[in-house]
Amino acid sequence: MKTPNRADTGAALRLAGVIRESMVDGPGLRFVVFAQGCPHACPGCHNPETHNFAGGYDTTVDNVLAAIDENPLLCGVTLSGGEPFAQAGAFAQLARAAHERGLDVFCYSGYAFETLRAGRDWLPLLREVDTLVDGPFLLPEKTLTLPFRGSRNQRLIDVPASLAAEQVVPRTLDAPNVAFDSPHRNRFS
Ligand code: SF4
Repeated sequence: MKTPNRADTGAALRLAGVIRESMVDGPGLRFVVFAQGCPHACPGCHNPETHNFAGGYDTTVDNVLAAIDENPLLCGVTLSGGEPFAQAGAFAQLARAAHERGLDVFCYSGYAFETLRAGRDWLPLLREVDTLVDGPFLLPEKTLTLPFRGSRNQRLIDVPASLAAEQVVPRTLDAPNVAFDSPHRNRFS
């Protein structure tokens, strides 16, 4: 029997892949979903195969949730890419359903927070994100020392607080000192 009042979860997704358990794509044990398709074309991106919107494979939010539901140890879901906001409607469904399960939502985007906040089609997903790493990967700003970021221009943002304050509020994480060589690493194939 379908649970009443739960969010719709039937939307189609185009994915590059998933990682069922990760400790380095946000704090704690996480399920990572890599969107297929990215308009940013950052020089030095380690996942060029995720750029083509016709690449990857088709699935649904329901299929991803079924995989998430197999693991009771998860504390959150990470949306990566590719560009999750290029499929904002479907990822908003996924993020909303993750929250209904008590999971937090960590998201990467090549767009700046201010750009996403101004985008009517992007706001429903932004409102379901707890922590955002924003902005493109910039090779001259590359760093291996900032947790969960690949270049120094990228910000770790507390999205609910930022939406309420109408300005960026940094997220402080009690995170391990994890080094990255790209914001969107190729580990799903
Ligand atoms: S680093 Fe991220 S935003 Fe930039 S091209 Fe690669 S997948 Fe897209």
